[in-house]
Amino acid sequence: MCGIIGYNGNKNAIPIVIDGLKNLEYRGYDSSGIAYFHNEKIKIIKEKGRISELEKILDDDTPNLCIGHTRWATHGKPSKVNSHPHKSGEITIVHNGIIENYASLKEDLIKEGYTFLSETDTEVAAAMIDYLYSKDNDKLKVLEKLEDILRGSYALLILFRDDPDNIYALRKGSPLIVAKSKTGNLVASDIPAILDYTKDYYLLDENDIAIIGKNDIKFFKDGKEITKNLLTFEFDISSAKKDGYKHYMLKEIYEQPKVIRNYLDHYLNNMDLIPDLSVYEKVHIVACGSAYHAGLIGNYLFEEYGDMEVTCYVASEYRYKKNFINDKTLVILISQSGETADTIASLRLAKEKGAKTLGIVNVVGSTIARESDQVIYINAGCEIAVATTKAYTLQVLTLSLCAYKLGIIKGKIDKNRELELKKSYYNLSKEIEEVLNFDYKKYAKRIAKSKNAFFIGRLIDYYICEEGSLKLKEISYIHSETYPAGELKHGTISLIEENTPVIAVITDKKIAEKTISNIKEVRARGAYTLILKNKDIEISPDIYDDVMEIEELNDLVSSILTIVPLQMLAYHVADSLGYDIDKPRNLAKSVTVE
Ligand code: GLU
Repeated sequence: MCGIIGYNGNKNAIPIVIDGLKNLEYRGYDSSGIAYFHNEKIKIIKEKGRISELEKILDDDTPNLCIGHTRWATHGKPSKVNSHPHKSGEITIVHNGIIENYASLKEDLIKEGYTFLSETDTEVAAAMIDYLYSKDNDKLKVLEKLEDILRGSYALLILFRDDPDNIYALRKGSPLIVAKSKTGNLVASDIPAILDYTKDYYLLDENDIAIIGKNDIKFFKDGKEITKNLLTFEFDISSAKKDGYKHYMLKEIYEQPKVIRNYLDHYLNNMDLIPDLSVYEKVHIVACGSAYHAGLIGNYLFEEYGDMEVTCYVASEYRYKKNFINDKTLVILISQSGETADTIASLRLAKEKGAKTLGIVNVVGSTIARESDQVIYINAGCEIAVATTKAYTLQVLTLSLCAYKLGIIKGKIDKNRELELKKSYYNLSKEIEEVLNFDYKKYAKRIAKSKNAFFIGRLIDYYICEEGSLKLKEISYIHSETYPAGELKHGTISLIEENTPVIAVITDKKIAEKTISNIKEVRARGAYTLILKNKDIEISPDIYDDVMEIEELNDLVSSILTIVPLQMLAYHVADSLGYDIDKPRNLAKSVTVE
C-alpha cells in the first residue's frame, strides 16, 4: 500500500513527483507530501487529503531531486502531522509498510533524547536511521544494519541532509522499482509512476539497497555493489491510462474481452504452462479478498473435474492455523500484486512444510512470483481501480484452465468435450461483449435507494455472488451480504423488508429449482428481486421484478461470464450515488500490510 516516488535528474523534480504520485494514488490517498533540498536544508511540504490538496500549497521551487508519498494510514490517523515525509535530525524518509517493533524502538530512542511529533511507525524508523548515522558516518553500513533492527515490512526512500546529490532506497517486504530515463532517474513503488518516461526498470530484491544519483544508479547487497537485470513492462502503456472512460474501473471491466482473448491465445495454445494437478493428493488454495472468491470457484471446479480434496482458505487465517500439508500437497497462492502480505506469509509457511507452491499473480517479478515453485502470470496489464475486475476474471480463468487440464488427464473430459470446451473458452469474449450492453442503470437506480442488499445462489453461483456482493459494498457502501440460497431461512430472511434488493444468480440447471424456491420465499416478504440467469432456465414472471439473461455455457466458463453483469451493476450503483469509484474510502490497492 501507499505510493512512493523519487526523482533525481535534470528537470524540475516537483511536477514529475506530483504526476507520479497521481499515477500511484490508487495505492493510498489519506494524505500526501514531498521533500527536496532547498538552501542546504530539506524542505517538506505535506497535506491531509488527496494530492490535489497538496498541489494547492506547493512553492514554486525547482529542485532537481525530490521524493514523494501518498499514504494509506496504518499507525496514526490520516492527518497533516502523520503524513509523510518524516524528518528526524539529519534524515528524511518516506515509507511503505509497517515497522512492527516501532513501540519498543521508540522507547529506546526517547531514552537517547529523541522526541516525536507524529503517531507513526515511520518517524521512529527515521529517528533510528539518524541515531545509527550519528554513531557511524558510513551511510551504506547504517542502511544495512536496519535489516536486523527493523521488524516488519518496509520500502524506504531516504534523504541524508549532508548528501544533496542522492536518494537512498531499500526494501524488505514492500516492492520498489528503479528506472533510468532520458531526463533522469526514478524510484517508485509501482510501474504506473514511471511509464510516462520509460518501460524499463530494475526490481529491488529483499534487502537490496539502491543509491539513485542524477546520472547513475548503484545497487548494493550485503555490503557489495551488485548488478541487476533490466526488466521491461511488456504491456500496452494504455493499460495504465484512463483512455476517455469516466473511471478506471469501467475501463478495466470493458478491457475484459481483450485480455481474456490474449490470455487464451497464450495459455490454451501452450497447455504445458498449466500445471498438472493430478500428481498431488490435495490442493489448498490460499488468497485474500476477491482472489479468495476466485479461489472458491477453483475449489469447486477442481473437485468437479478432478475428484480431489481441495480447500480454499483466507490467507490471514491459513498462516496461523494448523494445516495438514506435506510434499504431496499443492498450495496455490493467488494475488494480483503478488505482494499481499498474508498470502506471502502463507506461501513461506507452505514451503517450510514441504508443500509445492503455485503462484497465480499479475505483477511480473513480484514476491509471490519469485518465491513460488511455479508461477502463472495472468497478464492483465496494469489494474488501477482499487476494486478488481479484470484481474479477478483472469484468476478465475486460470483456475478454470487448471480444472480443464485436470479433467482431461483424469478422463472426465473426453476428446469431443475437450473441443467443445475449447470453443466455449474462445466464445467467452464475444459473450462478455454482449452482456456489457445491458441497461444496468435501470436496475442500479433501484438498488442505490437501499441501505442493504443480499446476493443468493447455490454452489458456483454462490461463489460468484460472493464477488458480486463485495464489488457492490466496496464501491457503493451499501451493506451487502451473500448467502447460499438455502441458508437464508436459517436466520437472515428476518432482514428482508419491503423493497430490500435480493440479487439471485442461477446458472446451474441442476439446482435451479431449489434457488427458484428461495427467490419465492424472499419475494413473498416484499424483496425487490433481480435475477441473473441462463437464457434456457425457465422461470415464471411472478418471481422477479427484473431479470438479466446470459448465454448458457459450461461451468468451466460460465462463472467468468456471470461476474461481468455483477461488476457492471456495482459500478452503476456507485456511479449513480456519485462516489469516487476508483478510490473507495478506507481502501487501497495491493495490501502489503497484515
Ligand atoms: N505505517 C506508515 C504510516 O502509517 C506507512 C503507511 C503506508 O504504507 O502508507 O504512516
